[in-house]
Amino acid sequence: MSALRSATPARRADAQAAIIGAYLKQLRLPAIAREYQTLARDAERQDAGYLGYLQALLEHEIVEREERQLHRRLVQARFPYEKRLEDFDFSAVPSLQKERVLELAHGAFVAAHENVLFLGPSGLGKTHLLLGVGRAACLHGYRVLFRTAATLASELELAQQELRLPKLLAQLRRFDLILVDEVGYLPFSRLAAELLFQFFSDRHERASVGITSNLDFAHWTEVFGHERMTAALLDRLVYRSTILLLEGESYRFRQSLQRQAGRTPQPARRAEKGGAPDSAQEGCAMTADTGPCNGDQQVSVTIATAEEGAGT
Ligand code: ADP
Ligand code: MG
Repeated sequence: MSALRSATPARRADAQAAIIGAYLKQLRLPAIAREYQTLARDAERQDAGYLGYLQALLEHEIVEREERQLHRRLVQARFPYEKRLEDFDFSAVPSLQKERVLELAHGAFVAAHENVLFLGPSGLGKTHLLLGVGRAACLHGYRVLFRTAATLASELELAQQELRLPKLLAQLRRFDLILVDEVGYLPFSRLAAELLFQFFSDRHERASVGITSNLDFAHWTEVFGHERMTAALLDRLVYRSTILLLEGESYRFRQSLQRQAGRTPQPARRAEKGGAPDSAQEGCAMTADTGPCNGDQQVSVTIATAEEGAGT
C-alpha cells in the first residue's frame, strides 16, 4: 500500500485497476468489471456520491445477470423456434379466451404446479400458444423444457433400456414446466405409454406440464392403448388444470387462402377426426360427464372457451 501511495498518479490508477479487476473476478462480478470506470465518470458528472455510484454498479450487475440467466433458460428450454403470445392473432380463434391465455402468461399456474392443455385441430396455433406460454414462464424465471410427445417417449424408452430412468425423471423434475407438444398424432407403444404415464404421474402436483393435442379426451385411449391407465393419466392431467379449446379452421390454411384469392375466410370446417370437439359445449360435457376425470378424487378443471366469458 505504501508503495502505491508513493507512485505517480497514473501508475497508482493502473495498479488500483488491476487490484479491482482481480477482486471483481474473484467475486464473479463481470458486468461491474466491464463498466465500473464508465459508471464512475457518470457518477462524478452527475454528482451522485458514493452511495449513488454503488447503487449504479449493483444495478448494472443485476440487470446483466438477469439477462444472462434468461438467455440460459431460453437455450435450456430447447424451443424449436421462437413464438410469442404478442404475435398471436386472437381474433382468428374466437373460441379461445384471450384473457385466460394472458393469465397463463403471468406464470402463476407454474407456481401453483398446475397444468395447461391446448386442444384442437391442426394449424390453429396450439404449438404457438404453448411456446408463447413457455417463453413467458422463462421470462418469469421458471425453468422450462419443450419436447414433442414422440421425442419425450423415445427419451424415456432409451433411459429405461439403459437403466437410467430414475435419473432422467430426476433431471426432468428440475424443470418447473415441461411442454409436451403433439400428444395424439402417433399412437405409443405399450412401453412408451407406460413410461409417459410414469412421467406425468411423477410431475403430478409437483410441477407443471403444458400439453397440446389434436385429440379430445374421448380418443386418448387410442394413442395410449390402455383404457384404465389412460383414465388415470387424464385424471392426473386435468386435476387443477386450464383446458383451452381451439376451434375453427387452420390459420395457415386461411392465410394462404386469403393470400391467393384475396377473399375473407370461409366458415370453420368440422374438426378433423379425433380433433377438438365441434363446440365448446361438447368439450365441456365430455370432460365433466363422460371424461375419465369423474373419480372419487375431486377434480378442479378450468375449461376456458369464449362461451363462458367475454371472449376475445
Ligand atoms: P397447431 O400446433 O395447432 O397445429 P401451430 O401453432 O403450429 O398450429 O400454427 C401453425 C402456424 O400458424 C404457426 O406458424 C403459427 O405461428 C401460425 N398461427 C396459427 N394460429 C395463429 C394465430 N391465431 N395468430 C398468429 N399466428 C398463428
Ligand atoms: Mg402443433
